[in-house]
Amino acid sequence: MKYVLTTEALCKRYKKTNALDDFYMHVPKGAIYGFIGKNGAGKTTLIRMICGLSKPTSGSYTLYGIKNSDKEMEQTRRHMGAVVETPALTLEMTAEENLRQQYRIYGLSSFDGIGKLLELVGLEKAGKKKVKAFSLGMKQRLGIAMALACEPDFLVLDEPTNGLDPQGIIELRELILELNHEKGITFLISSHILDELARVATHYGIIDQGKMLREFSAEELEKESETHIHIKAEAADAQELLSVLKDRGISYELVSQKDKKLEEYFVSLVGGDDHA
Ligand code: ATP
Repeated sequence: MKYVLTTEALCKRYKKTNALDDFYMHVPKGAIYGFIGKNGAGKTTLIRMICGLSKPTSGSYTLYGIKNSDKEMEQTRRHMGAVVETPALTLEMTAEENLRQQYRIYGLSSFDGIGKLLELVGLEKAGKKKVKAFSLGMKQRLGIAMALACEPDFLVLDEPTNGLDPQGIIELRELILELNHEKGITFLISSHILDELARVATHYGIIDQGKMLREFSAEELEKESETHIHIKAEAADAQELLSVLKDRGISYELVSQKDKKLEEYFVSLVGGDDHA
């Protein structure tokens, strides 16, 4: 399998805190990777590091197979876009002006792509509007358009649904799926909202206290949490029920397993004493 991002024994120490501790991660090419952890688990630390905003204390990571210590890393990072915390937008400028500024930062000589970008994120009618009049969802989508200006094939979103209303969440979900399916963009998305993440993610990683507890695919989660019909019956009735199923040629397993959705799985791994 090809990986866009891998980390190996990655550590980040802040005085007494091991924000990342012997941390391993594997983001497959083409994935929508849901990055889950409680508050303070280390998600933002990892994201800031791969964006080049901080350096590992020890260990390493690779982007597209290039190691963080390699000279080409700065060049390689240009294939990556990120929206970390609130998108850096100039509120007094219009959406178009913000994008033009971004194009200049990336050293792009033509502004031709801006109309298409606005269309892509569903802001084609709002290009001339000042960003201060935007809803949070519109700002979030403009933030994504800004990150898409350099035509990345890896997009990192830190808590993208924070503060969005239900409509904003739906629009963002559709945008992520469209960019993934039609443009083949790989996503790394940190989120607290597990139900929402489960609607888009193809892979997951659960971080706790700076360590990767487990990485698994949506398919694996599905297999582990296959829906079972749980019928409670008196012992004698149960025998009858099973014989009816048998007579009808309906196969069954005598396994009693509860539905184990992402949230339950998360809680079973890290405990439920705190909010994810
Ligand atoms: P949240 O969901 O609350 O954003 P998170 O998973 O992103 O949490 P991080 O922000 O990565 O968590 O923080 C991981 C740990 O590292 C926390 O204990 C935090 O207090 C600590 N930490 C993060 N940045 C710094 C810093 N600059 N200086 C000191 N400690 C820090």
